[in-house]
Amino acid sequence: MNLFLGAVRPAPSLICFANSRLQSSIYNSSISVSRYGFPPFKRILQACLQSNSATTQTGVRRPAEQSEIIFLGTGTSEGIPRVSCLTNPIKTCPVCSKAVEPGNKNRRLNTSILIRYPRSSGICNILIDAGKFFYHSALRWFPTFGIRTLDAVIITHSHADAIGGLDDLRDWTNNVQPYIPIYVATRDFEVMKKTHYYLVDTSVIIPGAAVSELQFNIIHKEPFVVHDLKFTPLPVWHGQRYHSLGFRFGNVCYISDVSEIPEETYPLLKDCDVLVLDALRPDRSSSTHFGLPKALEEVRKIQPKRTLFTGMMHLMDHEKVNEDLMKLMETEGLDVQLSYDGLRVPITL
Ligand SMILES: [Zn+2]
Ligand SMILES: [Zn+2]
Repeated sequence: MNLFLGAVRPAPSLICFANSRLQSSIYNSSISVSRYGFPPFKRILQACLQSNSATTQTGVRRPAEQSEIIFLGTGTSEGIPRVSCLTNPIKTCPVCSKAVEPGNKNRRLNTSILIRYPRSSGICNILIDAGKFFYHSALRWFPTFGIRTLDAVIITHSHADAIGGLDDLRDWTNNVQPYIPIYVATRDFEVMKKTHYYLVDTSVIIPGAAVSELQFNIIHKEPFVVHDLKFTPLPVWHGQRYHSLGFRFGNVCYISDVSEIPEETYPLLKDCDVLVLDALRPDRSSSTHFGLPKALEEVRKIQPKRTLFTGMMHLMDHEKVNEDLMKLMETEGLDVQLSYDGLRVPITL
């Protein structure tokens, strides 16, 4: 079962690990390895890894040529509603009470987006982060929007709300496609070796047991290319001495977990059309996340054409905060709104 075959495709500045027991060498130059990667299978596998169309069960359909991002999750690690808010006998939480209602925009799962863009072989689906609630996000939105395959997963950092769903990818690699490439920084890969050791080193699994088949690609500070799309890492602080990565693709910048943007990252944010930015709570920042005032300060500095906030906790009431943000359009010309789970935003890549 662990037959390991050849190099697949060039991936500048990447080092790839696949089934580490069998990984015999690390290629500094540009080689990705997969046990499915024997050249004659390459074209077949690439075809398998593409979604065929944007057909949906609800009739929602985008033209095949339209690139877009879909917000799969826009909330904090524990999710909104919080269970504790619903069981508190002495207090009623207005936002969590609303979030219980189906379709309410205050209902939020772990931050994650899906980038969809057309290639000659079909629509490509690239996921940023697969957190603890990935299964629930996918269950809600994949059938709704006609999404089937996962062509790659890019990881921002190794907190549970960003990588806790790696195990759930087994449904894809068991039933939809042979493997999923994961793009992850060295430090976070080291964490995965502990938290998801059986996905990194499949030699430890019981014969016959099915786990996610993941192909690990190490990313560095330099831009890297995934299925013809260039990603530029945006290093940011996410608490003291802890880095998280944002990513720029085209003129879209996605920064989901940030407490401070280092000076050297600002030039990478220039001429941004769509900025997706962390905004945890309405009143102040925490030690690991921007609050709304700081997030707005950054928007004024970065000057994107449009900003969508993400990572909101239960103190952020979708309608109320958005109403206030709308006023900034009149007073300052700022196009800023809160995102919500299931939001689709057309983008140009
Ligand atoms: Zn609450
Ligand atoms: Zn985090």
